[in-house]
Parts: sequence; C-alpha cells; structure tokens
Amino acid sequence: KNLVIAIDGYSSCGKSTLAKALAKKLGFIYVDSGAMYRAVTLYFLRNHVDISNDEKVTNALQDIELNFHSRDYESHITLNGEEVSDEIRLMPVSENVSEVSAHKIVRHEMVKQQQRMGKSKNIVMDGRDIGTTVFPDAPLKFFMTADPKIRAERRFKELESKGNNEITLEEVFENLAHRDYADTTRKESPLIRAEDAIILDNTDLTQKEQLDFAMEKVEP
Ligand code: C5P
Repeated sequence: KNLVIAIDGYSSCGKSTLAKALAKKLGFIYVDSGAMYRAVTLYFLRNHVDISNDEKVTNALQDIELNFHSRDYESHITLNGEEVSDEIRLMPVSENVSEVSAHKIVRHEMVKQQQRMGKSKNIVMDGRDIGTTVFPDAPLKFFMTADPKIRAERRFKELESKGNNEITLEEVFENLAHRDYADTTRKESPLIRAEDAIILDNTDLTQKEQLDFAMEKVEP
C-alpha cells in the first residue's frame, strides 16, 4: 500500500521546504496543493471569472487542467499546458487566493484531484487541509507553525532573491496575516490542526533540524 505524509500549517512557515526535503530523502513525490489554488486563482483573474456566480465557477473549473512536473524535486505546475510556477507566487495571485480557495466548489474539485494523486503513489503533500480533509487517514501528519515576523522575513527574502523588489516587508507581513486569518476562519475546511498531527514550530530550527525531526517520526 502506498503512503501519504500530510503537512499543514500557516502561510510561509516552511511547509514546502520540509515537504520537498522529505520527498527527496524518501523518494516520494512532492505535491504542493497551494500551487493548485494559486493556479486556479490566476486563471480566474485572467478570465475575469465572477466568483459570486456558482455556474461560472463550475464552468471555469471544467476549462482548467492542472499538471505537476517535478524536476530535481522542485515542483512545477502547468495551467492548461503553460508553466505558471513563477507567476502564481506574485502579489496579484497572493492577494486573491484566499477568497478563491474559500469557495466550496473550488475546494471540492481540488480535493478530488488531490485524493486521486495520493491513491497509488507515495506522496508528501503540503497545504491547509491535507491532514483533516484530503487525507484524514494519512499515517503521518505534521502541523507547522513559526513566529509571524520570522515567516514574513523569510518570504520577503525569497521574493527579493527572485528579483521582486516592488514589495516591502510590511506588505508581505500584511498578506501573510490576512491569509492566515482568512484560512482559519473560512467555513469550508478551515485551517486547523488534525488531532493526530505532530506540531512542528520551526522558528528557531534550521532546515536540517526540521528534516531530522520529521525523519525520526518516519522511522522511530
Ligand atoms: O501554500 P500556499 O501559501 O501557496 O497556498 C496559497 C493559498 O491557498 C493559502 O493561503 C490558502 O488560502 C489556500 N490553500 C488552501 N488549501 C490548501 C492549500 C492552500 O486553502 N490545501
């Protein structure tokens, strides 16, 4: 039987870094569920999809095909064949993704696709509802947190290193706070720790320490 490792937590607290490292170590496939919500948001923005109209949302979702391609354990996502991995990290998407991801029809479709990916393969999936809704039976779950200021600084540096100089640290902080609030208070599968998820606060941990901590849980 294949294995699923679920990693949930707040925005920008290193979920994808740990998930990628674990996947690499274990030879599993890494799936970034947030990238799916981001790609849907990008499509909705580009095509001016009115999210207050359920029928338009349903139709738009039928026109969207998402695919993952991993290269060197970096996960790349395509939206109808177009590589959008970089564009989905930019502010227009970051500012709208919480609203789109709170939509019941959008979540239903994404969860269905995510469950399909975990049916036959060993995967590490990160997101907000992986341990609670997508794979409630996953044998290993982590819930990650970190100091909000540290998270904003890390994300700011990451954006800066990719040449994004128009955004300030304060704007990044505000965006994270906004998304955490929206994710934890929405009606549809809000961000919450699954009862059996192991808490990992990485405020003061290096990437290696986090991987060691997680690997100990994989092979006690
Ligand atoms: O993980 P990332 O920050 O890229 O996710 C972007 C947004 O997608 C989150 O702020 C959240 O609103 C949404 N999301 C979600 N459920 C997931 C993954 C992401 O609602 N499983």
